[in-house]
Amino acid sequence: MRQAIIIGAGPAGLTAARHLAAAGLRDVLVLERNPEAGGLPRFAAHPGWGMLDFHRLWSGPRYARELVRAAAAAEIRTGHSVTALAPGGGVEVNSAAGTETLHARAVLLAAGIREMPRSARLLSGTRPWGVLSTGAFQEMVHAGGMRPFLRPVILGTELVAFSALLTARQAGIRPVAMLEAGRRITARRPGDWVARHLLGVPVRTATRLLAVEGQGRVEAVLVERDGRRERIACDGVILSGRFVPEAALARAGHLTMDPGTGGPAIDNHWRCSDPAFFAAGNVLRPVEHSGAAAAEGAAAARAMLRALEGRLPPPSAALPVVAAGGLRYVYPQRVVPGDGMVRLLARAAAAGRGWLRLSAGGVVLWQRAIHALPERRITLPLDTGLLRGAAGVTVELA
Ligand SMILES: Cc1cc2nc3c(=O)[nH]c(=O)nc-3n(C[C@H](O)[C@H](O)[C@H](O)COP(=O)(O)OP(=O)(O)OC[C@H]3O[C@@H](n4cnc5c(N)ncnc54)[C@H](O)[C@@H]3O)c2cc1C
Repeated sequence: MRQAIIIGAGPAGLTAARHLAAAGLRDVLVLERNPEAGGLPRFAAHPGWGMLDFHRLWSGPRYARELVRAAAAAEIRTGHSVTALAPGGGVEVNSAAGTETLHARAVLLAAGIREMPRSARLLSGTRPWGVLSTGAFQEMVHAGGMRPFLRPVILGTELVAFSALLTARQAGIRPVAMLEAGRRITARRPGDWVARHLLGVPVRTATRLLAVEGQGRVEAVLVERDGRRERIACDGVILSGRFVPEAALARAGHLTMDPGTGGPAIDNHWRCSDPAFFAAGNVLRPVEHSGAAAAEGAAAARAMLRALEGRLPPPSAALPVVAAGGLRYVYPQRVVPGDGMVRLLARAAAAGRGWLRLSAGGVVLWQRAIHALPERRITLPLDTGLLRGAAGVTVELA
């Protein structure tokens, strides 16, 4: 039996590995299904990585290399896919050598996210070649040295859509437009200014994609704005957004899932419903930036160390935390009363102004007025000392 196994060698998993090894754990094993460790950053060659954890502004591949280097004291096995979880810390692994089951006292799920493919997005029109998710596009450009198209449209305007735009411009690809169904872009505001003025790409808000057209490959997209239809000539479509946690393992296994986040439910010590399993990074909820995922990996590693020393409170003591009103989700989904200050993280379902409220047993513990935007992380402080005798916590945007 190992002390710790980490599933996924992205920013969350590698940062956790680094912290566990630095604390003196000798048998930390990281399992990564890809042939190289580093996670999603490996394919996004534009700058914007490493600011929060390394205080540097690196390209994605450089950031990935530095994460691997920093975790060198742990054992990293690439080409190893985890295919099943078993109660109490069992991990079934598939590699070129065959299938084996490993066991650890503490297992961290850090499997990241996956993008929703075209088939799941119900895009209408013909089925021409040239519709790619951002991840697939970046992998083709960065790892394959390909230019799958020259004048695509980008569907979506959240952070990842701008990552697609930067990758395209670096590769000499000139997107003809970014399309956004909402009235404003999803990413923070300077994004559309950068796209329009620095990169020369029009950002078209309140514009709905109706169909992708083309015989063989993409020739145009049909869009609608204010009831008027228009055909935009292009030779590809880059899909962005619509991420879901890569939580198939947790879902197929025995761990409790949260329908709001789409990931495994955790307590304030990053523990899943089976306390041998912990989770951190994007597997917990759709995409945050890499600094947030890495910070969660570090925090989960600290909790795993305390668990291995028998210093965590029993998981049975935790109370449920529920998202209500205009909130899409909140995590951790359970908190242990009398456990100090805990930071809850939430997202609003839609833009709007309102009161963010934390209550237990009908008593308001904390509240503030906010202007919520769905792309912004909401942070709430919870004093768990106030929870003695309570049956649960409600976090509400009203
Ligand atoms: C297109 C795109 C652009 C982005 N641009 C930026 C940016 O510019 N700056 C920024 O800070 N953030 C950016 N982000 C966000 C950033 O990529 C993520 O926050 C970060 O990678 C999350 O780290 P993670 O470790 O949780 O997951 P990941 O990086 O996704 O790593 C998870 C790892 O787990 C592995 N894995 C999954 N399942 C298994 C399994 N069953 N067995 C073994 N291994 C498994 C995966 O192969 C992967 O390597 C971007 C995200 C996307 C999608």
